[in-house]
Amino acid sequence: MNYIIFDLEWNQSPDGKEFENPLLPFEIIEIGAQKLDEQFELCGTFHAIARPVVYTTLHSHTQEVIGLTENELEKGESFDKICRDFLDFCGEDYAFATWGSMDLTELQRNMRYFGVDNPFPKPLFYYDVQKLFSLAYEDGKTRRSLEHAVEALSLPLSAPFHRAHNDAFYTAQILKQLDPALIKAAFSVDYYHTPKSKKDELHLHYPDYYKYVSREFNSKEEAMADKTVTAIRCTVCNKALRKKVRWFSGTSRIYYALAECPEHGYVKGKIRMKKNDDGYLFAIKTVKLTTEEGAEKIRHALEEMRRKRKERNKA
Ligand SMILES: [Zn+2]
Repeated sequence: MNYIIFDLEWNQSPDGKEFENPLLPFEIIEIGAQKLDEQFELCGTFHAIARPVVYTTLHSHTQEVIGLTENELEKGESFDKICRDFLDFCGEDYAFATWGSMDLTELQRNMRYFGVDNPFPKPLFYYDVQKLFSLAYEDGKTRRSLEHAVEALSLPLSAPFHRAHNDAFYTAQILKQLDPALIKAAFSVDYYHTPKSKKDELHLHYPDYYKYVSREFNSKEEAMADKTVTAIRCTVCNKALRKKVRWFSGTSRIYYALAECPEHGYVKGKIRMKKNDDGYLFAIKTVKLTTEEGAEKIRHALEEMRRKRKERNKA
């Protein structure tokens, strides 16, 4: 199996969000990739420029950071051509690795918009090197820029950032520094294609937490009425737990709950509601053991939420 480390550059509506095409907020203008074998040895590179057709003028921000001119873009090929070339380059047996989680979403959104068949497996697992960097060198939660990581690891600077082939190169250099066991254990799952039915829902068991990705729902209320969405099981013994603090929402899209396993202590749950490109909601639940202090934080957040609600009602 090979690793395909890729990076994209994209353009957006130069006249602001109100003039953007809602089906394609970001139009891909460059794809760069490195192919590494299982020993993390380089065995191929890919680079191509796409001629934009939705936003033919560069957004001022894009122009500033990427160092590509409209003239150079004009000489590019169509997105569907370079995308098919990229998919050929990927081959048959590979896993994607990207800096952050956006590139896979934008790649698939562009593929859908430009009518390129999506051959990726469902679910699509990949490696988020930005997350892996944080797990290896920081707290696992902080997300750093690619420049920051390259500097922190004292990697040689050989080419400017914000060109797809260069950023793919740097991302590959970072991936090579990481412990292969950490990489394998901390895989990510792509949310562009959400589970369509109950049997497709994802139950992922990581060393220290559990993640669940639900099927589609029409509303948050419908999702929160589903027993599988709201269940909390102990991540150690898998026992179904009674809640100490029932699900409540801090913000409109995030819910928290607290449960306790008689044997393994406090277990906290978090649900994030997200919308997919078809306009449906789906829930991402994470469940993790926590300490007395962690439990107290959740109780405190519940109190805060109640206090704010009271204030709002008075107003
Ligand atoms: Zn337990």
